[in-house]
Amino acid sequence: MDDSIRFMEGLIEKDINLLKSVPKADLHNHFSLGGNKDFIYSKTGKLINPISGKLKSMNDMHGWVAENVGNLFEGMDGRKLAIDACFQQAAEDNITILDIGEDVWAKDALYGGNIEEIISAFKNSNEAYAPNTKLSLQIGLSRHCNIKWLLGWSEDFFEQDCFHSVDLYADEFAQPIETFKPLYRKAKEKKLILRAHVGEWGTADDVMRAVEELELDEVQHGIAAAQSQKVMNFLADNKIRLNICPTSNVKLSRVDSLEKHPIRKLFDNGVIVTINSDDVLVFGNSVSQEFLDVYTSGLFTAEELNEIRLNGLK
Ligand SMILES: [Zn+2]
Repeated sequence: MDDSIRFMEGLIEKDINLLKSVPKADLHNHFSLGGNKDFIYSKTGKLINPISGKLKSMNDMHGWVAENVGNLFEGMDGRKLAIDACFQQAAEDNITILDIGEDVWAKDALYGGNIEEIISAFKNSNEAYAPNTKLSLQIGLSRHCNIKWLLGWSEDFFEQDCFHSVDLYADEFAQPIETFKPLYRKAKEKKLILRAHVGEWGTADDVMRAVEELELDEVQHGIAAAQSQKVMNFLADNKIRLNICPTSNVKLSRVDSLEKHPIRKLFDNGVIVTINSDDVLVFGNSVSQEFLDVYTSGLFTAEELNEIRLNGLK
């Protein structure tokens, strides 16, 4: 049977195993909290249960992680465990395109200054745990880091030909978006896909400014854009894809409920959207479960969700 038909049947029949068997993308996944819970338990004996209620801020989330994950993923071995767990999660959920990568600061701090260690950690794990998953390796930038440091750390990354995208994340208000222009110009020269986290905590205008200033191809979250017709039109006209994580948005109190999630409004206004996991260890949903929960909430028809699935695979 055709993948699209199987996917729609999986939604209508609420058959999570059928949904899992269909190819999907995960384009918004922070690998260090994106691992498979059972895999981590089998390797370490540590059981990490996702949050049950809602958190109010990124500080709440950092507190939750400190309490529930602790130092499990610290150091190079910890990082490699997180990477393996992330690929195991991708394999079990039939994620055929996975965009993940390491923070530029981690090269010196965790991998002995050796970029090859980072690249091989991801490639070896990909091969060992999820050979059917196409890895799109990402360069990670933390928004609170000094631009001079980011430029220095990222040099080695830009010289490699195996990276596919860049993403800016962590505290959305840490520094003005313009600060990162020199980095994004370099990344554009290298023909990388340009992404940044924006419009999760910020406004529709923040989304537009980030896309214009950094010349973004895609936005991680970007849900605040739904508050402005002008910004939605801008995103639709420029075919800027939003990689959205609905359950993360609910559990971090960015939206009241899945039923009220602005992804519907964005979709109706012609904005290209995808559905992703963000941090499966924290929020608890695989990409398949995320699609099923969004379907159950009544936001989209099975056909529309299949279109959103295919948006991620393009
Ligand atoms: Zn994110």
